[in-house]
Amino acid sequence: MNNVPRTLITGGAGFIGSHLCDRFLAEGHEVICMDNFLTGRPDNVAHLIGHERFRLIQHDVTNYIYVEGPLDYVLHFASPASPIDYLKYPIQTLKVGALGTHKALGLAKAKGARFLIASTSEVYGDPLIHPQPETYWGNVNPVGLRGVYDEAKRFAEAMTMAYHRYHGVETRIVRIFNTYGPRMRLDDGRALPTFMGQALRGEPITVFGDGSQTRSFCYVDDLVEGIFRLLMSDTSDPVNIGNPDEITILDFAQEVIRLTGSASAIAFKPLPEDDPKVRQPDITLARERLGWAPKVDRTDGLKRTLAYFEAFIAAEAERA
Ligand code: NAD
Ligand code: UDP
Repeated sequence: MNNVPRTLITGGAGFIGSHLCDRFLAEGHEVICMDNFLTGRPDNVAHLIGHERFRLIQHDVTNYIYVEGPLDYVLHFASPASPIDYLKYPIQTLKVGALGTHKALGLAKAKGARFLIASTSEVYGDPLIHPQPETYWGNVNPVGLRGVYDEAKRFAEAMTMAYHRYHGVETRIVRIFNTYGPRMRLDDGRALPTFMGQALRGEPITVFGDGSQTRSFCYVDDLVEGIFRLLMSDTSDPVNIGNPDEITILDFAQEVIRLTGSASAIAFKPLPEDDPKVRQPDITLARERLGWAPKVDRTDGLKRTLAYFEAFIAAEAERA
């Protein structure tokens, strides 16, 4: 398979990683998916097993990464990503953001590959500037419960820039804002799958605080398009990818209830520590440099995601 680009995707069996595997295979790449299944599932890439350009390797990327042969691209997506996941795995989260990023960068350098790191809107913390442009340095509590994730990603960005500046590695940094879609785990604790699961089961929808905090949800296909464009661009500066359509969590809970036709009530629960009060991407840079903007509106994206969760729950019930 000469001239076929070879791409390593760490965390490739996760929610976003598995969609990237699909996309890069569709672009004609050979894809090596590397994952230790800490928060992801082999099921997410089961449909790719047997594809002649796909390989799945079980490996913890905080240890030395060995990949035989050339590599053109390294996409580092391995990391617990939902608050309950990184609160359950605080040390693993710090290790994969720090040691894992170092190993993945070392591999990219050795292979002469282009490197892309999955960073996050969490680098902005509880933001004092709204919406958040890439030039904002953020408001993060390093010793709070969420610090393990936020600081790991901030370190990962710093390490990426150091490899770019000192070793001349071609690097890309994507700051991902709340993304959703099929293959999210119903039990990952994030607002969207939690609300959908609760609505489908007729249980109360757990809104934390008074629900006035905002988020801006991006459908996964839009995110993947933005990541692909960023990777193929010549932009080594961080770029926000997200959907600026901002909504309060209370309005969002009501939207899920309406969409599912559920009889669920709202149950207010305490707001977790350091929960950001607002979040909305400024996507001017992505528009200008990548010609990118999201295309899928929330109602459409939620319907597609709901169909996935309904099918997932039905398959689980059949297995039981
Ligand atoms: P996910 O948990 O579904 O995927 C992460 C994957 O990384 C999992 O498959 C997990 O098993 C794997 N992993 C974790 N530690 C590993 C290790 N040491 N070695 C190998 N594999 C390991 O989460 P996701 O939502 O798909 O997030 C993917 C990436 O995108 C993460 O880096 C996350 O920080 C980033 N991100 C996601 C969002 C979002 O809204 N989903 C927002 C911002 C950033
Ligand atoms: N949230 C909520 N109920 C839940 C789960 C989350 O009200 O059952 C809130 C959470 O406090 C936050 C928002 O929804 O204000 C988004 O949370 P999520 O975990 O999805 O992502 P993040 O906080 O990382 O943006």
